[in-house]
Amino acid sequence: MEQFQKQYALAFLLTVLTCACGFAQTSTGEPLRPQWCRELPRPEYAKLERVNINADWFEVYRIRPGVFAIYEPHQFEEVISYLILGSKRALLFDTGLGIGRISDVSARLTRLPITVLNSHTHFDHTGGNAEFFDILDEDTPFTRTNEQGQSNIYSRDALAPERICGHLPPGVQANSYSIRPFRVSHRVQDGERIRLGNRELEIIFTPGHTPDSLSLLDRKHGLLFTGDTFYPGPIYLFTPETDFDAYTKSVARLAKLAPKLKLLLPAHNVPVATPEFLDRLEKAVAQVRSGAVRPMVTEGRREYSFQGFSLLLAIN
Ligand SMILES: [Zn+2]
Repeated sequence: MEQFQKQYALAFLLTVLTCACGFAQTSTGEPLRPQWCRELPRPEYAKLERVNINADWFEVYRIRPGVFAIYEPHQFEEVISYLILGSKRALLFDTGLGIGRISDVSARLTRLPITVLNSHTHFDHTGGNAEFFDILDEDTPFTRTNEQGQSNIYSRDALAPERICGHLPPGVQANSYSIRPFRVSHRVQDGERIRLGNRELEIIFTPGHTPDSLSLLDRKHGLLFTGDTFYPGPIYLFTPETDFDAYTKSVARLAKLAPKLKLLLPAHNVPVATPEFLDRLEKAVAQVRSGAVRPMVTEGRREYSFQGFSLLLAIN
């Protein structure tokens, strides 16, 4: 363990040392743009309806009637969870980083009983799961592993100073931050419907980014919650759990839905995107596969850039 800690410390030092130039790679393998904090707030937010909830860590935006984006702008991932209300129940699509208490925020937005569903089980989407009792997830080995939580030694890098913009909530520190384990109450299937009263949501399995990635469709209102399958920014497709063949099929599946959609609601950076991005994403993936576009190679990643997003793949 001591040897591991030394290796970790060395990796962390390398992270800090490489931060000054473009993407820097951390010990967890995530790229970091050193200028990210200075570029906030993102201009898209000025057009959105902000909801005042008196929370330091989160910002809340009303995207549609009964659809709230719960945004964490003070950490590099800029993760976005969504609270979706029906007449009888509410669904919380992801629970964020677990740095602030998302259950406090959701309780201020609704008194309805809340069910949690994860777009996938990467730590930045399950951090608040342990605050809830009713949790839906897929049944994959990857999911079951992540249900055990993530110890501080793997989690603390997310709270390193260069990854935080502003202040952490009182009492939260990098050296004690971890992802708490959680218990899944129901295993969902592809195509399953979640009934919230006057709103119905449809689960679409979209493996690729991770084996347990899923998207959430509100067919009646033309809304598609895309998780990490699409967001405006560098889409992470470089970790060992990513399957680019599966991702290609999932993107094609979502692109078929585009004509009937009005809005995409991604899980990072900005909570609104036009459905045409799905067609562009499908074409982008095809161009990567055929070799029609050249990547920029930085810090052990291949980045294929397109208008409004990029695909970040591992070097084989
Ligand atoms: Zn992810």
